[in-house]
Amino acid sequence: MLTKVIEQAKIDRFERWMGHAERIVIIAHVAPDGDAIGSSLGLWHFMNSQDKIANVIVPNAFPDFLKWMPGSKDILLYDHYKDFADKLIAEAEIICCLDFNSLSRIEAIANSLKAAKGKKMLIDHHLSPEEFCDITISHPGASSTSELVFRLMCRMGYFGDITKECAECIYTGMMTDTGGFTYNSNNREIYFIIGELLSKGIDKDDIYRKVYNTYSESRLRLMGYILSQMQVYPDYHAALISLTKKEQGHFDYIRGDSEGFVNIPLTIKGVACSCFLREDTEKSTIKVSLRSVGTFPCNQIAAEFFNGGGHLNASGGEFCGTMDEAKRVWECALEKFKPLLNAKG
Ligand code: 5GP
Ligand code: MN
Repeated sequence: MLTKVIEQAKIDRFERWMGHAERIVIIAHVAPDGDAIGSSLGLWHFMNSQDKIANVIVPNAFPDFLKWMPGSKDILLYDHYKDFADKLIAEAEIICCLDFNSLSRIEAIANSLKAAKGKKMLIDHHLSPEEFCDITISHPGASSTSELVFRLMCRMGYFGDITKECAECIYTGMMTDTGGFTYNSNNREIYFIIGELLSKGIDKDDIYRKVYNTYSESRLRLMGYILSQMQVYPDYHAALISLTKKEQGHFDYIRGDSEGFVNIPLTIKGVACSCFLREDTEKSTIKVSLRSVGTFPCNQIAAEFFNGGGHLNASGGEFCGTMDEAKRVWECALEKFKPLLNAKG
């Protein structure tokens, strides 16, 4: 049995909306990850099972290793189909916002969402959601937004309508947002949910292989190169990896090729915080990814030094400046957080 995490009044209200609505739009965040796509497609399959006309819209492309997911071909990329997407958003009776806590996370879609007349619901697990929806289902304790979508469908009484395809999407989101159930994954109810998803016929081992064992040769060689350049700070229990545009050119880098790299330094004994600095291919900024283990709050570094935020163990931000400057800021952050980092050592 699952704890009733989502407030009943919100579920009741959403059910009332659903009773009257035909056209549903589901929106997830920029550079969608496994949970953004998994939760959106999970909800999309569910809406289809209820004979709704549903569309998933995301700001831009998502990684190839998610393209096997059932329904992924129907996802609308806003940067390619803006006019059509704007029409769908304007005409939607319900708009479900998944896996983001701030309008800035959907970039160019934000204006259309703000102008839309439809009823809006947020389902998310990031801290401190902005108030831009009529219903806000926000549970930072949840492993993933996908878990929350599963809980919502069940609480509405539709477990029976969850198809194998829907279950595959939900599982993928839960798996990717917990690093294959290696962090944020101590709530035993997660494993009850996995049992329920398995009862729908999903092959979790196959899903793991489809998501994680699909490297291209150039990605693996890039990984080898980045790790050979890695900087370890033993006195700070931290490590840094980086990737400049020039280096990207040497390895035929395509978006997503460095997905997950930031986790690798955490496999060094004693390293409690890992940082990955990557020059953006489109903007002249540096994308910052941070990961930590245990109770070290890497989101505080993201917020204080890189204009970002996120979860305790997985956060990120952006830096305007050169790679060398970004490295110096990271080293300042280490100095400031040295006592906390050493407490983890
Ligand atoms: P990633 O390193 O995978 O890009 O991001 C990990 C997590 O950090 C995301 O799920 C999100 O919560 C947070 N995050 C990443 N980039 C940003 C950012 O620029 N701003 C904020 N506020 N959070 C971010
Ligand atoms: Mn998520």
